[in-house]
Amino acid sequence: MKDNKFKTIAIREGYQPTQEQEHSAAIFLTSSFRFDSAEQAAKRFDDKDQGNIYSRFTNPSVDAFQEKLAALEGAEQCLATASGMSAIFATIMTLLKPGEHMVASRGMFGTTIVLLNTVIQKFSIEVTFVDLPDLDDWKNSVQTNTKLFMLETPSNPLGEVVDLRALSAISKKNNIILAVDNCILTPALQKPLALGADLVIHSATKYIDGQGRCLAGAIAGNNKLIDEISSFARTTGPTLSAFNAWIVFKGLETLSLRMKAHCENAKKLAIWLNEQEFVKKVHYLGLESHPHHSIAKEQQSDYGGIVSFEVIGGRKEAFRLINNTKMISITANLGDTKSTITHPATTTHVRLSDEEKQQSNISENLIRISVGLEDIEDIIADIKP
Ligand SMILES: *Cc1c(COP(=O)(O)O)cnc(C)c1O
Repeated sequence: MKDNKFKTIAIREGYQPTQEQEHSAAIFLTSSFRFDSAEQAAKRFDDKDQGNIYSRFTNPSVDAFQEKLAALEGAEQCLATASGMSAIFATIMTLLKPGEHMVASRGMFGTTIVLLNTVIQKFSIEVTFVDLPDLDDWKNSVQTNTKLFMLETPSNPLGEVVDLRALSAISKKNNIILAVDNCILTPALQKPLALGADLVIHSATKYIDGQGRCLAGAIAGNNKLIDEISSFARTTGPTLSAFNAWIVFKGLETLSLRMKAHCENAKKLAIWLNEQEFVKKVHYLGLESHPHHSIAKEQQSDYGGIVSFEVIGGRKEAFRLINNTKMISITANLGDTKSTITHPATTTHVRLSDEEKQQSNISENLIRISVGLEDIEDIIADIKP
């Protein structure tokens, strides 16, 4: 179904009914699978017979999600993982050995930065952080032992963007794998592989589930890379449960509709915020005033559901605005039907040092809203002082 349009793939790709002819995907809640005979078991363990053995390796519910997401990202293959972090960890541990080097954008997800500064260090993997949009910074960071570029575009919460085609020219020239965390836009709004990336990483916990109900992650790319990462994950264990796979599979069916609605609400909120006296600055890629608006327009089909803004004042004023909301949930999650509000400096980015916060522009007056699918009038009324 590779040539079909996005919405059709999202709904039709990735599941073969069983002999019961169920119209919607069943959940295969089983840890292992039976064999017809000892001979068949022997063949299957020897890779001479395709089929399931054990759900840490393969499971039909997980396969269905992987196939659908691979088709949506335009990838040969996809591996589902237990969370976005396990997708990131499995990718790094598979592609790098001790003594090797990777480059990451400074504004990545808070836990990703913590991972790179702590766990990854234990394996003697060297990490250099660069400014996401600054192509010279990426170019100058390359060493003879550099194996991986890893980034999120757009960044969260400020919506910085890197020119992926230009960056992929740098990575290809140096034989470096380019991995893009596409969690914020999803394949409904951006296809990193088509722009030259080698791997796409997801926290499916966010927009792909879309209703804040489960943790899941994924990595998509060519067969060679995904085979390698799969064998790491199947041996070390962070594969996705059948139940959560079923939830995120279902999420993909409505992804493009939901993303469209998130974008519409976010844009209206950003425009409104931009006119308010209590607001010092709005960070939303859909506003022409955003410094990366034109590159975003070039490589994304829309601007996403995250709106950040700085209030006039500092932490006190930011906390007051957050505490005044009645409907919007104070929670650090994003990508939910329910709008959520958070203060990055003391929540999602709290583990960054003061210097790192300053370099990433995570200021004390910054508020992030993951704009949900409620009526926009109600979202605005809830923020109005
Ligand atoms: C949430 C998030 C992650 C981590 O995903 P989990 O599913 O929470 O492990 C990684 N990257 C980005 C951009 C995220 O927003």
